[in-house]
Amino acid sequence: PSLERSPDAGAGRRRVVLFPLPYQGHLSPMFQLAALLRDRGGLAVTVLHTDFNAPDPARHPPDIAFVPIHESLAEEEQAAAAVDLHAHFLSLDAACVAPFRAAVASLREKAEDDGDVACVVLDSNWLAVLAAAAELGVPLLALRTVSAATSRNLLAFRRLCDDGYVVPVVNDERRDEPVPGLEPLRVGDLVRYDGWDVEKSCEFITKLSDAMRVPMSGVILNTFDAIEADELGKLQAELSVRAFAVGPLHKLSPETTTLRPPHRGCLAWLDAHPPRSVIYVSMGSVAKVSRKVFDEMAWGLSASGVPFLWVVRPGLVGGEDDATVVPQLPDGVDMSRGMVVPWAPQREVLAHPATGGFWTHCGWNSTLEGICEGVPMLAQPCFSDQTVNTRYVTHQWGVGMELVKVFDRVRVGEAVRELMVGEEGDRVRDNARRLRIQANQCVASTRAIDDLVEFVRSL
Ligand code: UDP
Repeated sequence: PSLERSPDAGAGRRRVVLFPLPYQGHLSPMFQLAALLRDRGGLAVTVLHTDFNAPDPARHPPDIAFVPIHESLAEEEQAAAAVDLHAHFLSLDAACVAPFRAAVASLREKAEDDGDVACVVLDSNWLAVLAAAAELGVPLLALRTVSAATSRNLLAFRRLCDDGYVVPVVNDERRDEPVPGLEPLRVGDLVRYDGWDVEKSCEFITKLSDAMRVPMSGVILNTFDAIEADELGKLQAELSVRAFAVGPLHKLSPETTTLRPPHRGCLAWLDAHPPRSVIYVSMGSVAKVSRKVFDEMAWGLSASGVPFLWVVRPGLVGGEDDATVVPQLPDGVDMSRGMVVPWAPQREVLAHPATGGFWTHCGWNSTLEGICEGVPMLAQPCFSDQTVNTRYVTHQWGVGMELVKVFDRVRVGEAVRELMVGEEGDRVRDNARRLRIQANQCVASTRAIDDLVEFVRSL
């Protein structure tokens, strides 16, 4: 449990109150934003947090204030975190409304000592909490931890349903059909939740979509012009508030937030390998694969002959008896060229000279991290926005290849070799190098974050 840390240097300053969604892919960008607002903007910063996945204040700079909101969840609701992310998120969202309101009210009362609350920044995926925040009478901004393309997909979701573009996509003959207004996305690339029934998936995406219309003062996106100038222009035209594209946050801010301890020994293992020889494999923090897919990944990786560093975290394999233990590798698979870790220091792994490829689920953070290090990708999207990101990785930016739909060890081995030593791999590697240079030019500019700070100060 985290200790409450009082704001110390806030008197007379403007304070920003941030409330991240407590999942890995959401915590990192929010903490990176908090550090930027403090360092570049000179703003006082308070982070509200849940007891679930509470951050450790000791691992963050001392002048970030932490306030636990102490949501209360029933035992079975808490247990859902390991098995049913959707159910867990919905109960967490509902449980946070009242304590979130109370926490903001209390901060406003203390404004004289701690700095007045200029605005509240919420993760845009909060639902009931976001609606409650809009009624507080404090300027509200939403941090979108997805791409501008995904944001446009979500904003258009009701129209897409009405026009018949939301269909069960698995083996659907319409999966390659272009979606008007959202090019280059095709029907099969749209945000979806595979493994859920279509009705439940649509209901959830509709909620995310409607949340984009909650009255607020502005939207902050973890993206940048070098990769999404066109999408950002279109999104801005579709939104009634200003959009600030302040990414790539992980390059602009020194903060790293990690919920699991990273296995640092894998960096020494990488040191012992030649440049660009290792493929790094990670499905992020929440995606699950079936036991069959997992076993084919293991066999295919070992058969590829390519050295591999593979993150096999507890819960990676769906439907296993105990989601808190690391899944077993199939018996007899040759692991002599591989290293398996439960959690990696991913950004350092991607920046390591020995890393020559990134087999990824294409979560938005992983996608940005791969782009910024110029590592070509093998995309294996699982759910949510990962299909959108995969389309951009493979088609728009040309920095990766998608893993074949028919998933068996032979094809896996071929795809890994193609990425690492094949002609197609060379092509996407060249593109990845070029995009990395463009991305780093964006990192050199502080314009976007300066605009955001000025805006916050004007609220
Ligand atoms: N990550 C990490 N070590 C790992 C796997 C993932 O540090 O072994 C980090 C990764 O760098 C990224 C985040 O976890 O910042 C995952 O976020 P992403 O949006 O890619 O996927 P999600 O987990 O939300 O599906």
